[in-house]
Amino acid sequence: MKYKSCNLIQHGLCFFNEMLVSCCYSPNDQVNGGFPPIIYKDYHGELIEADYLFSKINQYNNIFKTGNCPNECLNCFKIEEKDWDEEKYINSITITHFSACNADCIYCSNNLERDERTNNTYDILPVLRNLREQNIIRQGVELHIGGGEFTIYKECDELIEEFALSGFAKIFVPTNAIRYSEKLFQAMTNNSALIFVSLDSGSRKTYNKIKRIDAFDIVIKNIEKYSASESAKNAIFLKYIIIPTVNDNFSEFLKFLSIAKKLNIKNIIIDLDARYSRLLNYNIDYYLIYFVKKIEKISNRLGFDTQTYSFYSQCINNSSYNTGLIKYLISFVKYKLNNRKINELYKSHLYGAKKI
Ligand code: SF4
Ligand code: SF4
Repeated sequence: MKYKSCNLIQHGLCFFNEMLVSCCYSPNDQVNGGFPPIIYKDYHGELIEADYLFSKINQYNNIFKTGNCPNECLNCFKIEEKDWDEEKYINSITITHFSACNADCIYCSNNLERDERTNNTYDILPVLRNLREQNIIRQGVELHIGGGEFTIYKECDELIEEFALSGFAKIFVPTNAIRYSEKLFQAMTNNSALIFVSLDSGSRKTYNKIKRIDAFDIVIKNIEKYSASESAKNAIFLKYIIIPTVNDNFSEFLKFLSIAKKLNIKNIIIDLDARYSRLLNYNIDYYLIYFVKKIEKISNRLGFDTQTYSFYSQCINNSSYNTGLIKYLISFVKYKLNNRKINELYKSHLYGAKKI
């Protein structure tokens, strides 16, 4: 049956610290302070019952089937029209119920959480094992890691061993690469893991400003270590998250590309800081759209495989930006005038990094 819906509402699960939901993309959640599509509102690692799970999923998807959209999903860039299957299974899991980290990025959304960053959370492995036993997740399921820094998360090695190295799942791991994980490297070599390293800079000075830890050289060394096999090297995605007023300029991005060239990295990802995008309700200044389009072109011309990512996509989805030079010039001025407000955003910071 063909209709507008989303893979994550039908086949997605996202584990937060105190809630089980379908995804972590909901504009309703991120802009209006509402909730994403909820499975369990009060969740702390309990085993999941298939009947209950799929009845909740159906409640949301039935709204899509009638040609409408649940409030939780309104304006989401993930919605697409296609033939959807009726099968009951989960193929995409986001694990984001931990928050401890060994960096302290100025854009980290954990900085605004009401609780201190922690790994002291429920165990996810028994839940995943049980989903597997019930055949709710099957070979090839995607495990997307979120939260804090995965390489210091308590179940990291076991999870890689049992789900990725066994060939059951593919894991997608954002990591700051301050700590090298041999298990992760093995899974990358095995084609069962991809890593996303947000370097966000081309110099130690800018790196320190963003990450608030002096680890630029260690990170470069660890990326070299992760590149030791050909398949592992292809599993590295070097990320440039644009942080307005900090690295939103061509010179820093070109230095970043030069490092990527030296490291022989093929895959580049460009995105926008999530908190900034939300602050402007995804209606960001045209200057940044222009900037992203230009740096994407440069990156492609230099032979990188370049992708733009979620927050940029949501911003583009939200508005039309196909205007000319005058709109760009006006927007550039507006963007510069907005800088004071933006600087305030990066000052808000409740909890610092733990030295681990
Ligand atoms: S449409 Fe968007 S908000 Fe709704 S489930 Fe899909 S990703 Fe989440
Ligand atoms: S690496 Fe940065 S953005 Fe990621 S969890 Fe740590 S502090 Fe937050």
